[in-house]
Amino acid sequence: MGLFDFLKGGNKAEKELTWEEENTYTGETPDCPNCGTPLTKRYVFSGMYCENCRYGLEDDDEDDYESDESLSVYDAALIWQSNGKDEDYTFGYSEDELEDALR
Ligand SMILES: [Zn+2]
Repeated sequence: MGLFDFLKGGNKAEKELTWEEENTYTGETPDCPNCGTPLTKRYVFSGMYCENCRYGLEDDDEDDYESDESLSVYDAALIWQSNGKDEDYTFGYSEDELEDALR
């Protein structure tokens, strides 16, 4: 991560604490609302996420849409259309349903 490298480099050596020790979050975290696993918070300034079910992690990879069961027919239709109406991107919907959603 470039940002981490920047912070690391810009942080002049203070005491004996390493950057890692200084910024690692050691407090309590709530349980994951999805699976009940305690959430992971790596650093004091970072967001919480679930290592078990990936709750809280950002998904910017389009391939992950395929495993997202909550994808609406409208979202599915847009992805389907942007992939040339490829049958691999119907997300369990029929072509009629997808066509209807695009209207
Ligand atoms: Zn979870």
